[in-house]
Amino acid sequence: MQNGLILRSTGSWYDVRDADGHIFQGRLKGKFKLKGLKVTNPIAVGDRVTFEVEDEAENTVVITDIVPRENYIIRQSVHKTAQGHILAANLDQAVLLATLTLPRTSLGFIDRFLVSAESFRIPTAIVFNKTDILNDEGLAYQREIMDLYGQIGYTSLSTSAIEGEGIDAFRQLLDHKVTLLSGHSGVGKSSLVNAIAPDLNLRTNEVSTFANKGVHTTTFAEMFEIAPDTYIIDTPGIKELGLIDTNKSEIGHYFPEMRDRLNQCRFHNCLHINEPGCAIKDAVGEGDIAESRYMSYLSMMDGGDNRR
Ligand code: GDP
Ligand code: ZN
Repeated sequence: MQNGLILRSTGSWYDVRDADGHIFQGRLKGKFKLKGLKVTNPIAVGDRVTFEVEDEAENTVVITDIVPRENYIIRQSVHKTAQGHILAANLDQAVLLATLTLPRTSLGFIDRFLVSAESFRIPTAIVFNKTDILNDEGLAYQREIMDLYGQIGYTSLSTSAIEGEGIDAFRQLLDHKVTLLSGHSGVGKSSLVNAIAPDLNLRTNEVSTFANKGVHTTTFAEMFEIAPDTYIIDTPGIKELGLIDTNKSEIGHYFPEMRDRLNQCRFHNCLHINEPGCAIKDAVGEGDIAESRYMSYLSMMDGGDNRR
């Protein structure tokens, strides 16, 4: 019996990396029982497993067990009753790549991503790329946005994959971690990763563009070792994380700057929308909670799901 790490899944076969970095083709033995989770895939990228070599010449192994997950992100089916799909497991962090222009990542999108990551208990950093194309006004706005998220407690970085700015900081951010790397197509994910791991040759824009065309393709996450003990997980074509099973009264808990104030509202079941004596609305009025964050909160409360 050996220990392995799942780097890739195509549905029925898995790339399994052993302790020495050798990659086998693995499959599951018989029917795998999963406790409590209603999902379509029993094993996901990032899972730690045990396996036995099946056929040495063919490089195939049989996966015998899954090590309990530290955490995981799940993608709910559009049809709420159907089963979800585990995108990735055992993440140290998520990094959201954003650009304030070309394409513009909206604050609403950033906030929904952060709230989802909070609901999965995954620490998140935001990297603002393409700073080279910002004018003075754009740079000032970016500083403001970085301050906003910094004050809440999110690490934020600014980079330019083209000019090399912030690349060392980006490398350090990922060092010795398993990172889910997300962001709209075109923000520069491949460019930034290629800047710190030129040998990797990450998928070019063509594939992600294809996955984003709205064609109903099944996409699978993939994990890349970009440096010793440093992994990134790419989820091509997946724009939003979705929320862990949650109800509306919990959403405020996923805004770190609201968390400590939630029990100061007059009504214990305050939803912070139009109730009197609301500590959250007071904090927004006094500028202690950013207006844009509160707007994101309201839109998540309004939507019934996490879209806007
Ligand atoms: P991905 O879809 O997130 O992987 O984005 P790509 O890495 O494929 O980049 C999309 C486009 O943006 C390409 O034309 C890149 O050359 C360009 N790009 C990436 N990073 C930067 C940057 O920092 N500055 C500028 N000006 N362009 C960039
Ligand atoms: Zn309230």
